[in-house]
Amino acid sequence: MLVLDGKTTAARIRTDIQEAITALRQEGKRAPGLVVLLVGDNPASLVYVRNKEAACQEVGMTSRVLRLPADIAQAALESTIAELNADPEVDGILLQLPLPAGLDAQRCLTCIDPTKDVDGFHPENMGRLVQGLPGLRPCTPAGVMELLRQYAIPLAGKHAVVVGRSTIVGKPMALMLLEAHATVTVCHSRTPDLAAITRQGDILVAAVGSPCLIREGMVAEGAVVVDVGINRTAAGLVGDCDYAALCAKVSAITPVPGGVGPMTIAMLLHNTLTAYYQHTGRTEASCCCSSPCTRTASHPRTAGTTTSASFSPTQNPSTGQMA
Ligand code: NAD
Repeated sequence: MLVLDGKTTAARIRTDIQEAITALRQEGKRAPGLVVLLVGDNPASLVYVRNKEAACQEVGMTSRVLRLPADIAQAALESTIAELNADPEVDGILLQLPLPAGLDAQRCLTCIDPTKDVDGFHPENMGRLVQGLPGLRPCTPAGVMELLRQYAIPLAGKHAVVVGRSTIVGKPMALMLLEAHATVTVCHSRTPDLAAITRQGDILVAAVGSPCLIREGMVAEGAVVVDVGINRTAAGLVGDCDYAALCAKVSAITPVPGGVGPMTIAMLLHNTLTAYYQHTGRTEASCCCSSPCTRTASHPRTAGTTTSASFSPTQNPSTGQMA
């Protein structure tokens, strides 16, 4: 049984990013810059933001946390985003969610320049993912794909079952697996007889937020299991899968913690570096991994057109359609 070690894999990616930034600095270039917008004082958000800031600093990126009061008006938040959009030193803008009550998160996300949308949540980037076009991809599913790639887990022709259909994890996860030529089934809270479907998965991705929802009888012998869930319980941090029970049955599995979580942060750094490359006209954009945002050429808003090399052989370069 193979443990898909996100902690070690992410550390390797961070080292590659750090080396790329050191090289840029030696050329006299500015460092890539990320701004995290933190509205209010949600304690969980504070921890996440601190972790992101520390990760940026570790690799040599400029990172700034902009703390805004919980009672900020929607218009004021949107104009702050507009200022960051116009700031040439800012490559990535991350709006920490959830926002306090009364603020419209979707409207704010839509205000972020898609080329600075390092979370990949802007409707334009989501649309690009749907169409198989270049764009910044959501960090968590991109991190899962990179982890699977680094462990050479075959996806083409496999049946991938995704449990969860959120906009930030489940849906983009399903699209990325589809892009990798898996046959994808998405399950959710209204799916009857979940186990009957999860048992069919060669690859099973759990992104629910329900401790140990996926038990031993719910997975196929030899399946590859990716546990995205993060649940704080009296027994500590656990995923959506019963890790100990599944280990005896599956061929590979991600631990919690130390699986998908570190990969998510690595992909945030990767997206920020990719955005920097685009903003500074460096279209080679090869830093560390083959996540779609690296493989793909520059975003049409910031630089020329995309190259056919950006697409997998079965994709039509002009439409992004897969055969
Ligand atoms: P969400 O609450 O937005 O979505 C949960 C999804 O699970 C929904 O689509 C829902 O339909 C489905 N669901 C709920 N109960 C179900 C059931 N009994 N059977 C089948 N499906 C069910 O959550 P999210 O933002 O997608 O996050 C999911 C989990 O992943 C959470 O634990 C979250 O903390 C974690 N997460 C981890 C990372 C990371 O970096 N590791 C990143 C994002 C989210």
